[in-house]
Amino acid sequence: MKHSFLSDAGNITLVRNALIEWFDKEGRSFPWRETTDPYRVLIAEMLLRRTTAAAVLRVYPKFIKQFDSPTKLSKARESTIRRHLNTLGLQSIRAKHIHETAKYLAKKRAGSVPDSMLELESLPGVGRYVGAAVLSFAFGQPEPMVDGNVVHLVNRVFGSSFKGAADSRAWEFMERFGGKKQDKRLYWGIIDLVATACLRRVPRCGQCPLSNLCEYHGRNVKEDGTT
Ligand code: SF4
Repeated sequence: MKHSFLSDAGNITLVRNALIEWFDKEGRSFPWRETTDPYRVLIAEMLLRRTTAAAVLRVYPKFIKQFDSPTKLSKARESTIRRHLNTLGLQSIRAKHIHETAKYLAKKRAGSVPDSMLELESLPGVGRYVGAAVLSFAFGQPEPMVDGNVVHLVNRVFGSSFKGAADSRAWEFMERFGGKKQDKRLYWGIIDLVATACLRRVPRCGQCPLSNLCEYHGRNVKEDGTT
């Protein structure tokens, strides 16, 4: 049952289209979604790891205004960077990674962000997800992306049992789910739906655009139509 649902290309397309359509109408707007500047995208994605978009929004505009280039950021004191990030949690390791990345970009690349996954992944604090986000959102090179939000939503909707971002099956699945385009609205739709409707403890299925396509909702719906 689960296997056939997961491998059904028709369902995959329906869910993808519903998510993109919903994002076009209900998606949230953030400054890092309004730019294709690789440095701005990279910093945003590094800050967004293990943090909510709402928390990053309180920090990002001021941070990017003060450090508007890798060169400027590379010259900052790490303690200053840490102070900027102290409401996000993990500020020590974040500040260290961001600082080291900026120093690398300033020294080795004259302040430019690489457009290859190999080089992106070699930057401190930049894993496959952040690398893929930079390639997709800034350079227009579509790449599948897997993180906790993606795994959570896919497991609920498709009844899969992917274990997390380290699960290679999840990456294979997202390659199919995202299709050739790997539309950024699909990924932003996933993030926004998990933040507003597909909550981890009690999902708000009544306000979800995927309720008639979702395996989890289908399993939990009672005969009278309530959950
Ligand atoms: S129907 Fe419910 S469980 Fe399924 S994706 Fe939507 S909110 Fe999540």
